[in-house]
Amino acid sequence: MQHRIEIILGDITMLAADAIVNAANSSLLGGGGVDGAIHRAAGPELLAACRALAGCPTGDVRVTPAFRLPARYVFHTVGPVWQGGTAGEPELLRSCYRQSLAQAEKRQLSSISFPAISCGVYGYPHEDAATIAIDETCRWFDKHAWPEKVLFVLFDQPMTSIYQQLLGQ
Ligand code: ADP
Repeated sequence: MQHRIEIILGDITMLAADAIVNAANSSLLGGGGVDGAIHRAAGPELLAACRALAGCPTGDVRVTPAFRLPARYVFHTVGPVWQGGTAGEPELLRSCYRQSLAQAEKRQLSSISFPAISCGVYGYPHEDAATIAIDETCRWFDKHAWPEKVLFVLFDQPMTSIYQQLLGQ
């Protein structure tokens, strides 16, 4: 199943995929980090589409068109803020990946790209978050044909190395 996973060092807004996952906050009204980059690249129509959704709970996902991004959809998911690990963070982070994969399956999308959800201002320990991302994706691939490919798009070399090591690359 590892041939269905690609690890890429780069900017997620520059990379073509059927769905691009945004690490949003629960307001869905834009923020910094990858959220800001996605809104800038998609154009102002994305914010208007998000306004109509009236927010999203942590661990869940909402879908919009991708406007000017090289994608068909943006899947806005809200990762947990790290609070030490005893506030349900692991299950909430798993849920972000699972629900995004389920949305891709529902639309029979070939490819979906994920940033490292919760690994920026939300403070999730990077190795733990990467382990969850890969584990949840492998579990999904065990049972589902769609999406065909998952791209993990990491913004710096240390995070890329963590994913590569976990995948034995
Ligand atoms: P969160 O609030 O979920 O922690 P952040 O946007 O602060 O989200 O960070 C999530 C991850 O996205 C971090 O590892 C950060 O380095 C990375 N990131 C920021 N900009 C981009 C981008 N343009 N493409 C891919 N990853 C990005």
